[in-house]
Amino acid sequence: MQILRTCAEMRDFSRANPSRTGFVPTMGYLHEGHGTLIQQARAENDRVVVSIFVNPAQFNDPADFEKYPIDLDRDFDMLRRGGVDAVFCPRTSEVYPAGVPTLKLRYDDLMSELCGRYRHGHFEGVLLIVHNLLLWVNPSRAYFGLKDFQQYVLVKHMVRDLSLTVEIVGCEIIRESDGLAMSSRNVRLSAEGRAKASGIYQALIRARDAYRRGLDPVSVRGELLAALVGFDMEYGEVVDVDTLRQPEEFEREFGAYRAAVACYIDGVRLIDNILFES
Ligand code: AMP
Repeated sequence: MQILRTCAEMRDFSRANPSRTGFVPTMGYLHEGHGTLIQQARAENDRVVVSIFVNPAQFNDPADFEKYPIDLDRDFDMLRRGGVDAVFCPRTSEVYPAGVPTLKLRYDDLMSELCGRYRHGHFEGVLLIVHNLLLWVNPSRAYFGLKDFQQYVLVKHMVRDLSLTVEIVGCEIIRESDGLAMSSRNVRLSAEGRAKASGIYQALIRARDAYRRGLDPVSVRGELLAALVGFDMEYGEVVDVDTLRQPEEFEREFGAYRAAVACYIDGVRLIDNILFES
């Protein structure tokens, strides 16, 4: 596995390896959720590139940035075992030589919903880094987890609107045995917080059951929030997957919806969501 530290090295690698590359952008401290994206990328492409970069431009909370777990040696071991061809792990000064750019890639509508309503500047930072990584890595396909559903939707929009030649692939959410969505941030939970955190998935299941029983959007959201009483909630919503807004009514034959949650446990921000199938 090649370890690439500069953008020039990354570009040279992609030029020297022009056949189909699958790309998995991450912030490191890898877990099985990342592992599944990597496996899928390996199955569908000739080679796999993973990036590890904790992007300061997307942290609206400096304390969250400071506390973000990092262990590159551990990550490299996992990537080698996963058959990854190259890992791109640039320094911040390499990515932003003139400081974090003030350029904003922004969707006023989609970024005003869900996480975007609370994390000002977060998705602008995400789109900028994803855009630049796509230029440097030049993949045929890039893999994103549906755990960060709003991120996936925004990246798809950006790729379409900037006419980038990459296919964006959304990958299912990988969970611990009790249902908690895997996340690099989970290591920061206390034992008690970790036990409580499984309640998020239970609440999402309860909302999906309510949808299946034929309840309307307001009532389904009511079920979701009722299951999360006692949680330090940022939001709990039921949204159309295209608009990210709560629908007036469910269009059960053709529509697709998700219940989505963001909350804090032990001061750690956790997000999760679930699809309501038609
Ligand atoms: P992160 O390192 O948290 O920025 O995540 C890198 C990529 O892995 C993003 O596309 C995430 O959506 C995805 N990812 C993180 N956790 C999971 C999970 N539990 N299941 C599926 N994908 C995930």
